[in-house]
Amino acid sequence: MKNLSRKYDRKREEMVRSQIEARGVKDPLVLSAFRTVPRHLFVSEALREQAYGDYPLPIGEQQTISQPYIVAEMTQALEIGRNDRVLEIGTGSGYQAAILAQIVYRVYTIERRRSLYIQTRSLFDKLNYHNIVTKYADGTKGWQEESPFDAIVVTAGAPEVPQVLINQLAEGGRLVVPVGNQHTQELIKICRTKGKIQQTNLGGCRFVKLVGEHGWKEG
Ligand code: SAH
Repeated sequence: MKNLSRKYDRKREEMVRSQIEARGVKDPLVLSAFRTVPRHLFVSEALREQAYGDYPLPIGEQQTISQPYIVAEMTQALEIGRNDRVLEIGTGSGYQAAILAQIVYRVYTIERRRSLYIQTRSLFDKLNYHNIVTKYADGTKGWQEESPFDAIVVTAGAPEVPQVLINQLAEGGRLVVPVGNQHTQELIKICRTKGKIQQTNLGGCRFVKLVGEHGWKEG
């Protein structure tokens, strides 16, 4: 058991160095979160050996846990700190939420597939992530009752930037969302300052579909 966990510690350190630091991620809070969260526990047992590889992996229901680097890039783009409250749309495996939970005060995460919601909720309990609040719902509507958020991250590809989510950003808040067609997207970052919206393009990416009222239609 001890040896096994040491083996994953080594793989994790290697992942941080060769995939994340080497590609320019510098935020010390982000790097330390990636050194801490046991990614191998967020995939099925059959895929554990591959958990620290430089690629996404299937998590069931035709969904995926994102490649480590893209999770790091998105997390760094959110510019989060200790006192922030962050909303994530697309809980999936729970890995991105766990990374955020290492850094911020509280994470709110929404999943629209019931089986993934249930499975990941129990994983958070098992791993003692007490600052992650989960919800089973269509996340394209955001989480009005808990808004405004300091940062919002969408981990599925949207046809356009959902205005509802911009509206739920606090003053100075940041939104990161993949926008494009169903095969390829651009990672868009929105900053809301003094009521104004500033948009930057962080480059190409590839996510599963964001399905819901303000996303793609089902089917
Ligand atoms: N952040 C996840 C990525 C999972 S893939 C991780 O770290 O593993 C994207 C997830 O978004 C899938 O689980 C999918 O079911 C979910 N999703 C898609 N549309 C959604 C919506 N409208 N609301 C909430 N979740 C959604």
